[in-house]
Amino acid sequence: MSERTFTIIKPDSVENGNAGRIISHLEAAGFTILAARMTHLSQNQAQAFYAVHNERPFYNDLVAYMTSGPVWVMALERDQAVPTLRKEMGATNPADADQGTIRKLYGESIERNAIHGSDSSENAAIEIAFFFPAADLA
Ligand code: GDP
Repeated sequence: MSERTFTIIKPDSVENGNAGRIISHLEAAGFTILAARMTHLSQNQAQAFYAVHNERPFYNDLVAYMTSGPVWVMALERDQAVPTLRKEMGATNPADADQGTIRKLYGESIERNAIHGSDSSENAAIEIAFFFPAADLA
């Protein structure tokens, strides 16, 4: 059954010129791009987006990294979109990620790891709504 998920092509990917390759990877993996735009997260947006991590020791570094340059935010669709995107992304730490995954191919470190992907269908809906008005997804 068709499902939606949400991704951010993170600042390191844009900075390193890998955004196009990552979008191609996602298309080749069968995702339809429902909505996409380039943006530069504000401090407030990054803090709110990662609020679930605000007790973690790396939270301030994560917010600084995510606001360090432009990103692509995208709503994606396919069957099993959430687990399929997580599989295509690979493990959080690129050093632990499987060969051929986006983080293995393009990630630099456990922090600068190329891409964000929603971890559940419920969070995907929240994250899509955080960046896109419903009309953009019609
Ligand atoms: P994800 O779902 O695989 O993105 O991983 P998490 O939800 O656990 O973490 C969110 C993001 O925080 C990751 O994608 C990394 O950019 C960053 N991060 C996670 N763990 C660490 C860590 O131990 N140190 C640092 N500096 N950043 C981390």
